[in-house]
Amino acid sequence: MIVNALVRQALVSAQEVLCENGLNAVLRASGLERFIGNFPPNDTNPGIKTVEYARFNVAIESLYGRGGKGMLWRIGKASFQYGVREQGALMGVAGAALKLMPHKGRIKFVLNVMLNALKKTNPQVDACVEEEGDKIAYCESTCAICLGRHSDQLVCHLYIGSIGEALRWATDQEHEIAETHRVAKGDQYCRFEVGEVVRES
Ligand SMILES: [Zn+2]
Repeated sequence: MIVNALVRQALVSAQEVLCENGLNAVLRASGLERFIGNFPPNDTNPGIKTVEYARFNVAIESLYGRGGKGMLWRIGKASFQYGVREQGALMGVAGAALKLMPHKGRIKFVLNVMLNALKKTNPQVDACVEEEGDKIAYCESTCAICLGRHSDQLVCHLYIGSIGEALRWATDQEHEIAETHRVAKGDQYCRFEVGEVVRES
């Protein structure tokens, strides 16, 4: 199950990007009509099944065709910004601490902030921040976008959008993110590796 607070975060972010009509069409297509004009409260009660969340992602991809990937990426980005707004005080302190850290330290720090926030709202989440040599990656075996899906294609666009925005927030730079492993492809976890800086932002 995915808790209400995270469902709410996804719906608010999707509405920002798709507008109300677009979101409603997606909710209808994914069998989640009950959320039309009726977002769940900001609490940690069970909200939807992970397969329903995966279906929500699939519906955006199929309704928006070639634009779907970009939409999901932007929803992920909006979703991190929502987290920053919701956790204003905490993120303010984190932001000040970040200024004193080297580049790599900032990346590890913000990925751990994401990880802890996710685990706090949903204790079933199995994720970690991995460091090997000079590579830093974020891994999750409970990726809700992938669960119950089988695909050779990249499907975790929303996740990549969130991680990308987290890195931008922490470093003022946009980074390449490579998804090296994917649950939907049969891997044990989804693994997002932080790559080169693409541009300053
Ligand atoms: Zn995934």
